[in-house]
Amino acid sequence: MRGLRRPFDRNSIPNYLAHSTQAEVPERRWIVERRMVATHALVKEYVNLFVNRRAYTVQSFRPHPQRGRHYYYRPTERGSGAALQLNEKTISDHMEGKITIGLYAINPANQRCKWVAIDADYRNAMEDLIKLQYHLSGDHVDSALEMSKRGGHLWIFLAVPLLARKCRLYIHDLASRLGVPVKGSGLVEGIEIFPKHDVIASGAFGNAIRGPLGIHRGASRRFWFYGADYTLEAQMHFLRRLRRVTEEELDRFTAGKALPPNIVKPRHELEPMSEGSGLTRTRFCILDHVGKTRILGKNHVTRCPSCEKAGRDRGGDNLAILVADPRFYLCWAGCTKEMIRAAVGKPIPVRRIA
Ligand SMILES: [Zn+2]
Repeated sequence: MRGLRRPFDRNSIPNYLAHSTQAEVPERRWIVERRMVATHALVKEYVNLFVNRRAYTVQSFRPHPQRGRHYYYRPTERGSGAALQLNEKTISDHMEGKITIGLYAINPANQRCKWVAIDADYRNAMEDLIKLQYHLSGDHVDSALEMSKRGGHLWIFLAVPLLARKCRLYIHDLASRLGVPVKGSGLVEGIEIFPKHDVIASGAFGNAIRGPLGIHRGASRRFWFYGADYTLEAQMHFLRRLRRVTEEELDRFTAGKALPPNIVKPRHELEPMSEGSGLTRTRFCILDHVGKTRILGKNHVTRCPSCEKAGRDRGGDNLAILVADPRFYLCWAGCTKEMIRAAVGKPIPVRRIA
């Protein structure tokens, strides 16, 4: 039989029916809500849970004159033009509803995430989110469902920052097994999964999502998590009690899996090895220096020697080597080719220029 007989019970979700998933509710505006105070402890907890890097975005107070949408931009310091960094005051202002910030999923220093968020804002979006939530719980993965302007955001928290690639792999695989549409996979409508990248370059940002518990400028209201009272304390208390996914679990959920081919992004990070002077030097081949490999799609997959030295990559699948041309290889955890070559005892010769 296709689908589930009884995937969820709406009645168990407070206010499920009170908040339409289709339209902006013209009911009472939440802008007149009682003033929320973000205590130092709540701010600290928010940072621990949600802030994975200090770069951020701010939602504009005024809608775009033509499009009517409240876009997010990266704030800069007046005068110097330097990018502003998140601090406790920013978070406190966000929680108290004075500003609305967007948070980036991936920290480029380690290509890891503290959370995974699934954004859905199409017709039947809430049904898909609840279906995902139900099946996540089958893996003993807790998640928190946050309301949004249309649909919702489903959040999963991680015990320690985990590789963006594996986070995406897990959710993409689950969505495809459940027949939940993913936006961008040739489909116009579907869930969006944050992180949206496996790897981002240093100096890059990837994608940001509205920080929870703030006031959405377009809707002029605060969107809460289902399952807790509408106060900052109760909401943070609810989030604190959710079980977080461990690295061992994520490795297990993603072992032997690959992203569907229509999702995989062009691997511009793959760079050719320096070929040296060619004739006199024996050409280095990474395949001679790694352990057991297996083929996944267009790549050999194996343990990254550099990660291994650092006691990481217990899943043994961080290194991808292009089958068609093994000069192209990439560690998903962000090890550079210099690090990998050094780890196998074949450092790249330094070429002196002038
Ligand atoms: Zn590595």
